[in-house]
Amino acid sequence: MLPTDSALVLFSGGQDSTTCLAWALKHYARVETIGFDYGQRHAVELTVRPKLLQSLREQSADWNAKLGEDHMIDLSLISAISQTAMTHDIAIETQANGLPNTFVPGRNLLFMTVAATVAYRRGLTVLVGGMCETDFSGYPDCRDDTMKALQVALNLGMDTRIKLETPLMWRDKKQTWELAQELGGQALVDLIREGTHTCYLGERGALHDWGYGCGTCPACALRARGYHQFVGTEV
Ligand code: ZN
Repeated sequence: MLPTDSALVLFSGGQDSTTCLAWALKHYARVETIGFDYGQRHAVELTVRPKLLQSLREQSADWNAKLGEDHMIDLSLISAISQTAMTHDIAIETQANGLPNTFVPGRNLLFMTVAATVAYRRGLTVLVGGMCETDFSGYPDCRDDTMKALQVALNLGMDTRIKLETPLMWRDKKQTWELAQELGGQALVDLIREGTHTCYLGERGALHDWGYGCGTCPACALRARGYHQFVGTEV
């Protein structure tokens, strides 16, 4: 039987993936992280990653002992093969097909496939991602069925028994904050509030009660609303 005690976490430096990383550190004996540089406008999230990893190490001796290598992968080909508001300086709007133009077609499929390749090499048997169907802006590659189908495809294609775990799949943003509280108490909530980055526009000027960001892009709006529901100050 293959060991199922080691995980590779898709870690972008945002609220969701930081919560997923804490979740993995609770559930697995060995945890590594992977991040992707794909020319995203919010590349600031890549600069907060090392600080977050260091802070997580400082918050718990157990987490420090479990946390292993961080893999940073260059996926700049994404901005070469697609043109979306996530990687190009164009206004965020809804497209004719009903999806926001921040949607990078197939991005999560590519991320998971690359992660599976790295996991194969590193002997890691679980992939953890922050995909969420609850308030997913309609991104079809965040769907539970998409991830389940991909798990089957990856294992058939690589002759492995890798498991895809998505602990946030059925949680809304409020419940994601609650999960952080459960996993690491107020210290983790504060770290996620101040240390993570979610804003699509890469805005990191003023610190709001829910964290840094422009406050108006779809990602900021979701994050702010969830935080206010979490602390009971929703207006
Ligand atoms: Zn924003």
